[in-house]
Amino acid sequence: MHRIVASITSLELHAAALASGCEAYRPSNCPHCQGCKLWSHGCYHRKADRRPGALGALNPVAIARYLCAACLHTCSRVPLCIAPRRWYDWSVQQVVLLLLLAGVSLHRCSRCTQFERRTIRRWGNWLDQRSEAFVFHLRSRFADFGRESDTPALWRSVMNAMGLGVAMAWFDQDLVVP
Ligand SMILES: [Zn+2]
Repeated sequence: MHRIVASITSLELHAAALASGCEAYRPSNCPHCQGCKLWSHGCYHRKADRRPGALGALNPVAIARYLCAACLHTCSRVPLCIAPRRWYDWSVQQVVLLLLLAGVSLHRCSRCTQFERRTIRRWGNWLDQRSEAFVFHLRSRFADFGRESDTPALWRSVMNAMGLGVAMAWFDQDLVVP
């Protein structure tokens, strides 16, 4: 199951898709048992709109949920603008990761972004631990990314070219984005 619906790129499009009864979020198969009969099962809500002031007024954001008729597990999919199982969205994480990739220290990164050092360290570790698998998939899909000499340079060019969110939507088709 692809957990990220890459075609829905903003919270406004997400709200419109839900309001129109759009089926973009219905998975074709259950991620637990691969069963293909999934019933709509209400919504859960996330405080996903982190934009300042009146722009950030779309909370709580509803996420459609589905129930598998075979194993009774529930599952859901999220638009590109909401990162699965993360409090912050991809664009926020990208800013922090780009600083780390540029060699900025945890201390300085924390001062610039106001995130705690342990949060920054966790995000850096997350990227480090998965880089090998991510890079393999990136290079097999996008020949252009094969030219960078090292992994930090490759990530910088990926983030500049497509953004972390779009890259994760690609990985989501092959790997589970953790
Ligand atoms: Zn199932």
